Amino acid sequence: MSERIETADVCVIGTGAGGAPVAALLAEAGWRVAILEEGDRHLPAAMTARPRDMMPRLYRDGGQIATVGDPPIVLPLGRGVGGTTLVNSGTCFRTPPHVLDRWRRDHGLELDLDDEFELVEEAIGVREVPPTLAGRNANLVKEGADRLGLSAGYLQRNARGCIGSGVCAFGCPTGAKQHAGQVWIPRAEQAGAVTLTGAKARRVVVERGRVREVHATTARGSIRVRAETVIVAAGALLTPGFLRRNRLGTASGQLGRNLSIHPASAARAVYDEVVDPWMGVPQSVYVDELAGDGIMLEGIAGPPDQGAMSTPRMGAEHRDLMLAARRSGTFGVMVSDTARGAVRSVAGRMVVRYDLHPDDAERFRRGFELLARIFFAAGAREVIVPIDGLPTLRGGDVEPISRARVRPRQINAMAFHPLGTARAGADPATSVVDPHLQVHGSPGVYVADGSVVPSALGVNPQITIMALAARLARRLSA
Ligand SMILES: Cc1cc2nc3c(=O)[nH]c(=O)nc-3n(C[C@H](O)[C@H](O)[C@H](O)COP(=O)(O)OP(=O)(O)OC[C@H]3O[C@@H](n4cnc5c(N)ncnc54)[C@H](O)[C@@H]3O)c2cc1C
Ligand code: SF4
Repeated sequence: MSERIETADVCVIGTGAGGAPVAALLAEAGWRVAILEEGDRHLPAAMTARPRDMMPRLYRDGGQIATVGDPPIVLPLGRGVGGTTLVNSGTCFRTPPHVLDRWRRDHGLELDLDDEFELVEEAIGVREVPPTLAGRNANLVKEGADRLGLSAGYLQRNARGCIGSGVCAFGCPTGAKQHAGQVWIPRAEQAGAVTLTGAKARRVVVERGRVREVHATTARGSIRVRAETVIVAAGALLTPGFLRRNRLGTASGQLGRNLSIHPASAARAVYDEVVDPWMGVPQSVYVDELAGDGIMLEGIAGPPDQGAMSTPRMGAEHRDLMLAARRSGTFGVMVSDTARGAVRSVAGRMVVRYDLHPDDAERFRRGFELLARIFFAAGAREVIVPIDGLPTLRGGDVEPISRARVRPRQINAMAFHPLGTARAGADPATSVVDPHLQVHGSPGVYVADGSVVPSALGVNPQITIMALAARLARRLSA
């Protein structure tokens, strides 16, 4: 067993949407940066585009983390250089202004993030998806929404040279997706940062109220990073456990609580024409007609290997749907949740507790009703909504979903955007980190990841997380 010792000004734990930019910007500002990442480095050449190869490599626990609650919700996380951005869809939204207003009012956070939004969008190449890359699946939804006069458009994404291969969630094989490990970590390293992969941070050594060292373990031994500043960016599900084990951020009793997850679900349409939903950018179109009520419709699609598992129904019905795979379309509904969950550690294992709120189940119903109308306006012959007990919708008839009373346990949901478990706020009694992301009462210990985001956003969070991390870097380097 070996022991490696690094000396740095700052130790950053995690290389996702929060850790990677703060590491890069601090390194470029002249700080000596040591980065610890539990996962490995995955280069585009090693991405096979096959879900069964890539899920175990790129996802934590093979993508099988799930909530305990009603209903259970799968909550996948990336693990590797780039964190969850390695497997994300690349959709980019700035924090909505009404959310920033709410943070000011409810959490005492005075944030003007415009400069940071510009900085990160420029760095990761954010631009609108061209219709030619959007894929027929999404273009049909756009056509249907336009026919109904609904507000819809092509999404902004962080990709350069995307060819629409349709496998963003399994690692971009062309290197087009500008994920955190593709953009920020090389920038950090060019500026002198050291990235230690396969290194799980375990302990922060604090002496006389100051951070002295971070200890990590690898398969071959241990690492000690001597640094007086530590930035924890392990993600909203893992940061609370790390802080708790180190007795940091526990004073308010809020650590691990206030978890929002932005639950998502997807409906399926069968058309008469060939759609080949796996061709094109998987998430390329949005419908924000109901965004004011916290309901967003965004594209979702995956390669055919995934087909059997994500195809609903059983027996002969399932077979018929599989036979119609080339004529099928899928699209997602995401709900800005009112429920809040919690992440805890039980016998050393992470347990995520979350119950979908009945109001959010009703929002899913409304989102799917709108989506079914859009599918039919686009020419769908039948629509299957992932609500248990609801019949297949045919002939443009959305009545069954219009009059349904939907309970949480009927919704088949997943979630991709955990936030809020070490929330930022001015009041140490109700938050874990202060408005500058320093853990209340713990000088030199900062958090820069989804856990500091104090409320549900209603949109995909990576730009918010990166902008908050960039703001922290600017403040520390000033
Ligand atoms: C399939 C999918 C699609 C998504 N699509 C989008 C999208 O289109 N747009 C969008 O905005 N968001 C999307 N997201 C969400 C987005 O990617 C995440 O919200 C974001 O990456 C979270 O950033 P983070 O820094 O909080 O954590 P992460 O990006 O998860 O990074 C945390 C990193 O810390 C590492 N780590 C954890 N513990 C330790 C430890 N003890 N020691 C060392 N390292 C550790 C982890 O291995 C991981 O690499 C998607 C998510 C998923 C799963
Ligand atoms: S759709 Fe574009 S960004 Fe996504 S994996 Fe394919 S080439 Fe990469």
